[in-house]
Amino acid sequence: HAPQALLAPEAIYGDGRVNSRGFDLTAEDELGRIFAARDVAIADAAPLTAAEATGTAVPVVNPATGATIAQITEADEATVARAIDAARPWDAPAATRAQVLRRAADLYEAEFGPIFGLVAREAGKTLNDAVAELREAVDFLRYYAQQGEARDDAPRGIIAAISPWNFPLAIFTGQVAAALMAGNGVLAKPAEQTPLIAAMAVRLLHKAGVPATALQLLPGDGATVGAALTRDARIDGVVFTGGTDTARLIATKMAQHMRPGTPLVAETGGLNAMIVDSTALPEQAVRDIVASSFRSAGQRCSALRCLYVQEDVAPHLIRMIQGAMDELTVGDPWDLTTDVGPVIDAEAQSGIMAYLADHKDRILHQLPVPSQGHFVPPTLMKVTGIEEMDREIFGPVLHVATYKARDLDKVVAAINARGYGLTFGLHTRIDSRVQEVTEAIHVGNIYVNRNQVGATVGSQPFGGEGLSGTGPKAGGPLYLPRFFAPDVTQPGT
Ligand code: GLU
Repeated sequence: HAPQALLAPEAIYGDGRVNSRGFDLTAEDELGRIFAARDVAIADAAPLTAAEATGTAVPVVNPATGATIAQITEADEATVARAIDAARPWDAPAATRAQVLRRAADLYEAEFGPIFGLVAREAGKTLNDAVAELREAVDFLRYYAQQGEARDDAPRGIIAAISPWNFPLAIFTGQVAAALMAGNGVLAKPAEQTPLIAAMAVRLLHKAGVPATALQLLPGDGATVGAALTRDARIDGVVFTGGTDTARLIATKMAQHMRPGTPLVAETGGLNAMIVDSTALPEQAVRDIVASSFRSAGQRCSALRCLYVQEDVAPHLIRMIQGAMDELTVGDPWDLTTDVGPVIDAEAQSGIMAYLADHKDRILHQLPVPSQGHFVPPTLMKVTGIEEMDREIFGPVLHVATYKARDLDKVVAAINARGYGLTFGLHTRIDSRVQEVTEAIHVGNIYVNRNQVGATVGSQPFGGEGLSGTGPKAGGPLYLPRFFAPDVTQPGT
């Protein structure tokens, strides 16, 4: 079975300009501009609100070194209250809003050096992952601009956007861009770990022409800023990406304090599986398994967590995976040959290390890591099946199970039974199997004979079902409409 062709972006966007340009890390001048940002002092950051801001100073830490790189003033409850008072929908024609978002996309691209520098220093991303991050952010800006430029529907009002650290620029920008493009005012709470990237994004969006009252940044923790936003009846919608438990908490708070029908757009965790049968091309499968599990140090919602290999080919395939793992370079995000960087912080590191210690009798293979910084060894671990995995381990840990050919249905049922439904991968060369398995599996994004991370805005709308989210897929045609006020002339919408 041939790898599934990606829909060419031009086929969707028409003008062929929506997707970001590539960045050539082998080109001297581009690399020069990125490395020039390496040692630049990072300005301290504070809430970017239309009203006066107050709060407490906390350090921002580089996960690759453990060093403090800046101070951030986190918003306190009073700041959140003032920001909500000052917030206004973006009162400009849709065509103007689209133009401003496109200008922001151009500014993002022009600022690639400082952006890559900050993504590497604050989030510990490798330069290759930083490139993907910036491109996705730019794609979101241009995609929602294109989706909304001819729609002068009424906005909902004021949207709270709560974003994660694992895509501190792309997901932050995607949430904000969609809410703004629909004409809403946005209060954006970035992850505690990555406020500086968010502040840079907000400055560029303001510079492009987004009014200060339509986009305000409220750095801080969930217990203070997140809680203050989600219990305020003046908020007309919440968009959230992060853990399933946090999404539950937000939904509860919203139900207690907000008007009935206030939407929660949530993209949450996954316990993503891949099935490799005995007809798969081993070289291709191994490359895609390794990319799906260890790229971004496994810190993607979409990452492969539980691999099922058909028993007949398992010993050979598992040996090949171990060999491919040995080829990975773990370490300094600034080294262009690095494949796997650190995990986000000390807490993530110790949590995953404790999990590995608890299951050390199951470890099949593990790589050495630098002793400084928040690194976790890329690990291959044996399990009997996905039902044995008690939670999503958000790091470079791949679980592998084997199955008998006649039990394929049971494997699919076991994956569905976990209740998550984000991504799924299948490697096979039997066409009818592709049909059967992809019909039976309940997930948002299915990838056949390729890796299962890195959905492309516009051609691969991204989002799951069940415990993985509330549905409208980011970077797809159903996302932006969630941010418009329901059409009161259409009963049932
Ligand atoms: N959209 C990303 C991908 O397809 C994952 C987003 C996430 O980790 O939240 O890999």
